[in-house]
Amino acid sequence: LDIRSHNFSEKETEFDSKLRPLEFSDFRGQKKIVENLSIFVTAAKMREEALDHVLLHGPPGLGKTTLSNILANELQVGLKVTSGPVLDKPGDLAGLLTNLEVNDVLFIDEIHRLSPIVEEYLYSAMEDFKIDIMIDKGPAARSIQLELNPFTLIGATTRSGLLTSPLRARFGINCHLEYYDLPVLTKIVERSAGILNVEITHEAAGEIASRSRGTPRIVNALLRRVRDFAQVKGNGAIDIEITKFSLEALNIDKHGLDEMDNRILNTIIDKFNGGPVGISTIATAVSEDSGTIEEVYEPFLIKEGFIKRTPRGREVTPLAYSHLGKDRFKDPETLF
Ligand code: ADP
Repeated sequence: LDIRSHNFSEKETEFDSKLRPLEFSDFRGQKKIVENLSIFVTAAKMREEALDHVLLHGPPGLGKTTLSNILANELQVGLKVTSGPVLDKPGDLAGLLTNLEVNDVLFIDEIHRLSPIVEEYLYSAMEDFKIDIMIDKGPAARSIQLELNPFTLIGATTRSGLLTSPLRARFGINCHLEYYDLPVLTKIVERSAGILNVEITHEAAGEIASRSRGTPRIVNALLRRVRDFAQVKGNGAIDIEITKFSLEALNIDKHGLDEMDNRILNTIIDKFNGGPVGISTIATAVSEDSGTIEEVYEPFLIKEGFIKRTPRGREVTPLAYSHLGKDRFKDPETLF
């Protein structure tokens, strides 16, 4: 069961959009970000201007797409959605930009994956609301400048480290989304259960929350699975027994760690005697890119206290050993 995957089935997507908050007041957590964004939205509306360009970065499933929907909704403007890998020709971008109404929002997911040529075009669009396009071919080819309606670009990325500095500099508003804490995640479970019309106890909601890797997308995916168990094995209501039974049956890690999290911890313990070990060495050992480990996996492991950052590299904590059921002093050298 790959609950972190982005490849949701159609049904899953429908479920997802039903649970997606549409207003700031429905969006739990990320308090500072929401407070600031709602002020910027109000100010932009008072001036009847486009909101400044917004960069949203942070690990997957924390609400970047949701926030951009909310922003367009609160600004009462239209929203066009695309993504870095899809926009592979400048013409595609020009088509989107020239179709925007005054002050509309253009959302570009995975903005770190834009091709350099498309990114170049985006600069003048973001800065002056103008783009140069080439018309005709061969000797008759010439470039003409098109005026665009003012718009807001919202860029989302899990890998802000990969953004070029000229692109980064063109965002006036920069928000880093953090993993959610337990009380907020529990409220999100309860809100989603309410929308789905399923009864759930507070304790059960807390249990689902604690196994969700600090991530609302995982909360909703787990809730959906537990609801299935409650319907078939129980009376439809979700209590702590049916929740524990389902999470056990689904093989969900007690701390919500996923396969890669566990692989990283096991590697540091088994191959590097618990650390300290450098991030690029870990990356090579688990065959993952070191930036992805640093921006997508490690922050959660550090937040939950499984890994420590030291001047000499990453070190696992006693919690990691006990979680994996491993002996801390297996190597006699560390004992004496
Ligand atoms: P991202 O774009 O960062 O990968 P999404 O915005 O797609 O994440 O969020 C995944 C799902 O999690 C959404 O469909 C939404 O239902 C839920 N979600 C995200 N953030 C929140 C939140 N703060 N409150 C309630 N639900 C949330």
